[in-house]
Parts: sequence; structure tokens; C-alpha cells
Amino acid sequence: MALIVQKYGGTSVGSVERISAVADKVLATRAQGHDLVVVVSAMSGETDRLLKLAKSFADPPNSRELDVVLTTGEQVTIGLLGIALEARGCPARSYTGAQVRIVTDSAFTKARIVSIDDKPIRADLALGRVVVVAGFQGVDVEGNITTLGRGGSDTTAVALAAALKANECQIYTDVDGVYTTDPRIVPDARRLSRVCFEEMLEMASLGSKVLQIRSVEFASKYNVPLRVLSSFIEGPGTLIAPEDKTMEQALISGIAFNRDEAKLTLVGVPDRPGIAYQILADVADANVEVDMIIQNIGADGTTDFTFTVHRNDYKKALQLLQERASKLGVREVRGDNRIAKISVVGLGMRSHAGVASTMFKALANEGINIQMISTSEIKISVVVDEKYLELGVRALHAAFHLEEAGQK
Ligand code: ASP
Ligand code: MG
Repeated sequence: MALIVQKYGGTSVGSVERISAVADKVLATRAQGHDLVVVVSAMSGETDRLLKLAKSFADPPNSRELDVVLTTGEQVTIGLLGIALEARGCPARSYTGAQVRIVTDSAFTKARIVSIDDKPIRADLALGRVVVVAGFQGVDVEGNITTLGRGGSDTTAVALAAALKANECQIYTDVDGVYTTDPRIVPDARRLSRVCFEEMLEMASLGSKVLQIRSVEFASKYNVPLRVLSSFIEGPGTLIAPEDKTMEQALISGIAFNRDEAKLTLVGVPDRPGIAYQILADVADANVEVDMIIQNIGADGTTDFTFTVHRNDYKKALQLLQERASKLGVREVRGDNRIAKISVVGLGMRSHAGVASTMFKALANEGINIQMISTSEIKISVVVDEKYLELGVRALHAAFHLEEAGQK
């Protein structure tokens, strides 16, 4: 007998029929003898609807009050699932985040979990009940209702699994696992049966929007095996777990990409100590997050400095740098918000040479110019013109033979 935490996302509880299907799935899991804690999201579209209502009064709305409004979405689904389970003769208890005491800090709309009281849940489980918990929410020490950021139900589920030392945290969603890349771009993209935390973090942060990235960080920190599955199609899904040292690693696990990037270049930057700090401190003060950074080798006492930011921050960052250019002694500021980042990710590249050359050759064969390159131990990323994104992803997927079953 195992303790399993299951999380059902918005589309999985999007209608009365879907909630009934979830209740049936819960019953089937219980029939296998497992203890079960179920975390649910709001019905699909509901959080957006509530957000829109709040914004009709003020944009942005007061964040404490917004959290009071947004948490109602999940409160509806826990109650409905509780009713559906009881109607099937399955003892169930639903709880809001505040009721189970998922204690968070007071950062409304993006709170972080501080502690979870597992005793009441354990007591219910001991009585044979299925415990249904509202995702995405908690309560601060003063009793204010908080939310964990969009997509936060994933984090609720993983945090509960960690607190309860569950055997597995299963995330039911509308896709049947994590793929080698987006199947809308590469039709023969393959579902991965297993991927390790580090790879998933690199792929999630690069835009594989299957899981909230914080939930993967949490799972990795507390070693909670995570499984992504479809609530529509039967199948084993993808297990996200620590690296399996007994198995040979596939060279590359996936091709991730991100179109939300923009690039800023400072031309003719004085080549002296402290200049990178000055540029980036200004950018950080404006609350703009920087991703890739490249500085060229100095010549004639000056150098070029390029970095990327989220596309939403592009105008703000460009304006800021243009204002500061003369003070920094920079000759020219250039920008481009029509870029995209493509990355190859895989644990196997730690022990294999030649990944970069295979990658660059595949892009060259398609006539795609590489504007920036950055690497980490298990990832190589390039920035290219946005118009080559899909072509580049396809070329790389083929170059690393990711369509071949048994590749991993
Ligand atoms: N309902 C929230 C959202 O739409 C939380 C979640 O579904 O994970 O972001
Ligand atoms: Mg989600």
C-alpha cells in the first residue's frame, strides 16, 4: 500500500462530467489499496474569469483582496469533488489551503509555502477518507488568505507529497507526459518515459509549460518522485525523478525553446572594472530579469556587451539603457525583440564531446545564423532570429535522432 498525492488541473475538472471522471479515477486508485490525497485546480477558465472581474475595479487590483477572490475557484472544485466522492460511497473530506494549514509568507499573489501541518490529513487518511485539498492557496501567520502564483496547484501537490513523504506525486493534466519537444512543431516528438529533475528544470525554465517550475524545484529539493499523466488517455506518463545512475543516459533528452526573449546590445562599452556591474545594477533596479549575458573581448579599450531579457521588459530596458548610455560612456545601444532561444538539454552531454558541433552543424545546414551561445553542464542554448525558431527546433530534433524509440 502506498500513499499517493494526485493533482488534477483545470481542464481535468473543467465540467461536471470531468469531475465525475476524476471521482471514478480516485475510486480506482483506492481500489488498489492506496491512501490518497487529491489536489485540484479551479475549473478551466475560472481563475482568468475571476481575475477579469477583479480588474474591472482596479488594474492591478489590491493584491490581498485579489487573493480572496482567486481562491474561490479552487474552493468550488474541492467541494464538488467531495460531493461526487461521497455520492459514490467513498468517504471524503475537502479542505481549503487555510483549513489544512498550508502556511505561507505574506507575499500576496506569489506567496511561498513555509510549513504544512500534516497531522489533520494523516488523521483523515487513518479513518479511510480521501483528503481533497484546494490547490494554489495558503494562509499567512496572521490568517490572511494567499495564493502561490499562476499554476501554483502543482506546487501545492508537491509540497503536500513532501510533507506527507508520499510515494509518488501524480500530476494529471491534458497532455500524457513530457515530450522531447513541442509536438505541435515536431509531429514525431516522443513522450519521455523518464527524465531527471535537472533536465526537467532546464526544460521547464525554457518554456516546456507542463509543470510550474517551482513545483519541480520543490520536488527536486525534497526528492519527491513526480509523474505527469493525462486524465484523458490511459498511460504511464513521464516520471520525473532523481538521476538513475544504473542506466546509461541518453545524450539529449529534449529540445526546449522560448520565443519570449529580447536582446539588448551596448556597443563601445569602456573596458574597465565595474562596468558590467553598473549596467546590470541599473537593469536589476528596474526589476528586469536578465537571462543570457555575453561580453566580447576588449579591443581599443572598448568592448560590446549583450544580454537578453523577457520580451515584456524589452521597451523598459531599452529606454533605461538609452537614458544611461552617455553616463556609462557607451557609444550605442541596440535592441532586437524578434529573437528566440533554442536549447538542447541532456544529462548525457556531461560525458560526451561533440554535442555543440552536432548542434551548430544542424543549424548551419539550414542556413540559420546563431546570434548568441551559452552553455551549462547539461544544456547548450542559442539565440536565433525568431523566424527560424520552428525550422531550428525541427532540424535539431532530427540531428539528435530524438524521434527514435529506445533513444531513452
Ligand atoms: N487555478 C490557478 C491558475 O489557473 C492555479 C492552478 O491551476 O494551478 O493559475
Ligand atoms: Mg497548470
